Amino acid sequence: MSSPQPHTWEDAEAFKKALKDKGLKATRQRVAVHEVMMELGHASADQVCETLASRGSSKVTTASVYNILAQMAFLGIYSHRFSIGGKMYFDVDPTCHLHLYEPLSGQYFDVQDEELVEYIETRCKRRRFKGYKVDAVDIQIICHQSQPKKK
Ligand SMILES: [Zn+2]
Repeated sequence: MSSPQPHTWEDAEAFKKALKDKGLKATRQRVAVHEVMMELGHASADQVCETLASRGSSKVTTASVYNILAQMAFLGIYSHRFSIGGKMYFDVDPTCHLHLYEPLSGQYFDVQDEELVEYIETRCKRRRFKGYKVDAVDIQIICHQSQPKKK
């Protein structure tokens, strides 16, 4: 049911092409941030920055990582996620999918269930919310680990 691997961006070239299509250059920083996002799948600017620093790319500040991530989300290359603490997370996969979210660890796991998404979207589009029009549906299933982690 859940796959921790994002199912978009097969390779760096696809990402570079997406940037080019949006009129952006594939700078070293953008490509480095994307490589980390590909591994983490869902991450905050802090987490991306920590991973970059652990690889010796300490010159990149959290602010510039955040700017890159926010820009990618704005362009629809990534998507936004909000954790329970109000922290902004970014998702390397911009397509519509469900999430299993564990608040304790702040981890997101992708859940592919097109049937469920379609069902809920259809229901929401049919329903009338007076004065509002539905743009999108974002489903986050809150969970905690049922098995204690093995040491
Ligand atoms: Zn996701």
